Parts: sequence; structure tokens; C-alpha cells
Amino acid sequence: MSDKIAFITGGNRGIGFQTALELGVAGVHVVIGSRDPYQGEAAAATLRDQGADAAVLRFDVTNPADHKAAYHYFDSNHGRLDILINNAALAKGSYPGTGTEISASQVPQDVLRAIFETNFFSVVALTNTLLPLIRLSPAGRIVNLSSILGSLTLHSDPASPIYDSKHLAYDASKTALNAYTIHLAWELRHTSIKVNSAHPGWVKTEMGGPDAIMELAEGAKTSAALALLPADGPTGGYFHLGQPLPW
Ligand code: NAP
Repeated sequence: MSDKIAFITGGNRGIGFQTALELGVAGVHVVIGSRDPYQGEAAAATLRDQGADAAVLRFDVTNPADHKAAYHYFDSNHGRLDILINNAALAKGSYPGTGTEISASQVPQDVLRAIFETNFFSVVALTNTLLPLIRLSPAGRIVNLSSILGSLTLHSDPASPIYDSKHLAYDASKTALNAYTIHLAWELRHTSIKVNSAHPGWVKTEMGGPDAIMELAEGAKTSAALALLPADGPTGGYFHLGQPLPW
């Protein structure tokens, strides 16, 4: 058991919930963020039933007031934050009601801006708000849930498995998030804080869909491992199940 405190955004379902479970059973006190307080309470109760020490915070990552509230919650209840998992995200855009993907030449500005707002701008703002509390941890860990779809190297390689899977708004938001990982890790390189990007895999969740190849239990392994990195672990990297991905 440990006395670590973790905040997992979008922890009411999917990979965020499963990551909370993995960390919880490892002895971390997990606080899940949930837009819907009822879903959040239900998820926290399920986590507790399965042996995790879990609490819930009503939290919308696009709401700056919620960033301040999260800061005050961790400051007043714990005096620091050890692990921040930036998990909440919006999926790739499709035309409403059709499921047809939006091509790069036709992506509407509102879709591009909405996805960047949730997946990039808000993640940077939240992390920078909570950073003073993470600096108070003896071993802060920041995990940014990216995607293999954020890899420019793989997107530009006709031989790569994602070559024909192009969704500009989502993919570019994850590429930008990877840039934040690299820049923040560089800024914090002389501290004990580690900042990494995670690709969970193609996982059966609402976002991943039923055809995804990984079960939920596997899908949280990358996030949990990066959250629990030892002192000699990497920082400023981009990983899937312990293997580096090309940027
Ligand atoms: P998911 O099943 O769609 O769950 C998304 C979570 O994010 C939900 O808890 C959702 O809350 C929350 N969320 C969305 N917008 C939010 C906002 N504005 N504020 C707070 N919470 C918000 O997705 P997932 O598959 O678990 O994905 C988790 C992470 O892994 C994401 O960053 C995703 O990009 C990444 N990822 C997933 C896959 C995959 O195959 N599943 C692959 C690569 C990367 P509500 O319940 O309120 O909607």
C-alpha cells in the first residue's frame, strides 16, 4: 500500500475508470473526475466495492472554475497531488447521426475547436493549475492520454497500420498533446516529476467501439504503469505497454 493521491479525469467510465481501479487496488487513493455527479458516485462506489480507496469530484475539464475547485480540493484535503492522469477526451468527429468520418478538407471549425478545447487547451490549463500541488509531491507523475493517432511519423508512413485512419481534429489534438508532454517534461527535467504520453491501445470502450481489439482490463495498463513509474523511469516519452512509439 502507498499514500499516493491520484486524480483521473473522465474516471466515471471507460479507460479512466479502469485506470482508477488498477491504481486503487495498488493502494493509491484515487479521485475520479466526472461530469455527471451521479455517474461519478456510482463509479466510485463500484471502485470501493472492489477494494479501492476512491472518491469523486464533479469535474468538467473545459470549465476553468472546475480547475480551481480541483486545486482547492487537493490542496485542502491532501496538501499535494502525486499523480495526474489527463484521461478525459472527445472522440474523433463524425457527421451527426451518420457516423461518417469528417475529412480534413471538410472539417467544420466548430468540430476542430471543440475537440481541441477538450483534448488540448483544457488539459494544458488544468495541468498548469495543478502543477504547484504536483511539485509538492516527492515523485509527481503526469500521464497524458494520447493516441497512436497522434503520431505524425506513423500517419505519414504508407506501411503503418494507421495510414488510412485519418481524423484531423482528434489526431491533431493528440499530436498537440504530445508536444505539451515533450515541452513540460523538458521544463521539469531537473525535478522528480515525470511527464509522459500514453497510447492505451485500441480498447473496447464507448470511444473505441465494439470492434476494438483490446479488452478494458488491458486498456488501462499503459496509464497505470506510467502513473507508477519508479524514480529511474522515463520522462518526456510516448509509450504503449512499455514500448516507445514514434512521435
Ligand atoms: P470514453 O469511453 O469515450 O470515455 C471518455 C471519458 O471522458 C468519459 O468519462 C467522459 O465523461 C469524459 N469526458 C469527455 N469530455 C469531458 C469533459 N469535457 N470533462 C470531463 N470529462 C469528459 O473514452 P475512452 O476510450 O475511455 O478513452 C480514454 C482516453 O484514452 C481518451 O483520452 C482517449 O482519447 C484515449 N484513447 C482511447 C482509445 C480507445 O481505443 N478507446 C485509443 C487511443 C486513445 P462523460 O461520461 O461525462 O461523457
